[in-house]
Amino acid sequence: MQAARFLGQGRIEIITRDRPAARSGHVRLDVLACALCGSELRVLKNGWPVTPGHEIVGRVNEPGHAGHGRRALAYIPVWCGHCPRCTAGDTHLCENMGDLLGWQRDGGYAECVLVPEQCLLYLPDDIPDHLAPLLLDTIGTPAHGLRLAQRVTNHGPVAILGAGPIGLGAVLVAQQLGFSEVHLGEPRAHRLQTGLSLGALALADNAAARFPIVLESSGVDAARQRALELTAPNGVCVFLGESDTWQITENRAVRRKDFFIARSFYFPIREYTQNLALLRTHRAQYEQLVDAQVPLSGLEKLFSEFASGARLKPQFSSSA
Ligand SMILES: [Zn+2]
Ligand SMILES: [Zn+2]
Repeated sequence: MQAARFLGQGRIEIITRDRPAARSGHVRLDVLACALCGSELRVLKNGWPVTPGHEIVGRVNEPGHAGHGRRALAYIPVWCGHCPRCTAGDTHLCENMGDLLGWQRDGGYAECVLVPEQCLLYLPDDIPDHLAPLLLDTIGTPAHGLRLAQRVTNHGPVAILGAGPIGLGAVLVAQQLGFSEVHLGEPRAHRLQTGLSLGALALADNAAARFPIVLESSGVDAARQRALELTAPNGVCVFLGESDTWQITENRAVRRKDFFIARSFYFPIREYTQNLALLRTHRAQYEQLVDAQVPLSGLEKLFSEFASGARLKPQFSSSA
């Protein structure tokens, strides 16, 4: 089969290798689509020992298995099912979680990927292949972050910093969860414009503005600082963005108030059904995010467009 190898410096080589061997407790998924994620820009730059790709939808190809022939998403944390976190339903917080698919194990930029059975999220027939990956990082991650925020307050308005895929997903999810006023901060005009077309308001450059709920999805330190300052007293600031650094200045706008900080990672499997409902009811809006589909041979070029900010949520598609 064909698979992508990330060599670093933006280079992606397509190699031919054996299909994954059958393994107990696992099934092989023939990959239908795998969406690009901003977190993979590190992998693109540095190279990676396994095949990346962690927003995967595929078809189970395991004759004799109960799910053979069915379409499924791959939930990336390999969870154990018996630790206290898993039994409480927090599969994304599994105490025995070692690997993440596409990070420590081979992922979805290949024709076939091996997936632990407990990580299969079967896909209903009405969800098309190309929209399915949005149920993971683009809907699942911000929806979980917003549900965490709702433990603190149910009152908006909401401010979202960063209009990458997670931020744009958050714009839609926040409105769907009943927050009618969503303000979006994003330095790149065309990305901000996309957010506005999805119903957000442009976040005003007003040093005194405060929001009961702030979601930071860019991972940029300056935005993290602003997120802390923007959070209203008794409000909640949710960090979704990733980076290797964390540099915050505890100035007056941060120090002199009571507020909550939430860090949110991915989402628990139990939220999958609710997330399906989010995709179904605003399908046309989510559709706008999938702005390119390429075969594996087009992945290197697509990643360079994605890295430059020219693409929203493009994907490798086996039918492209
Ligand atoms: Zn991701
Ligand atoms: Zn566990």
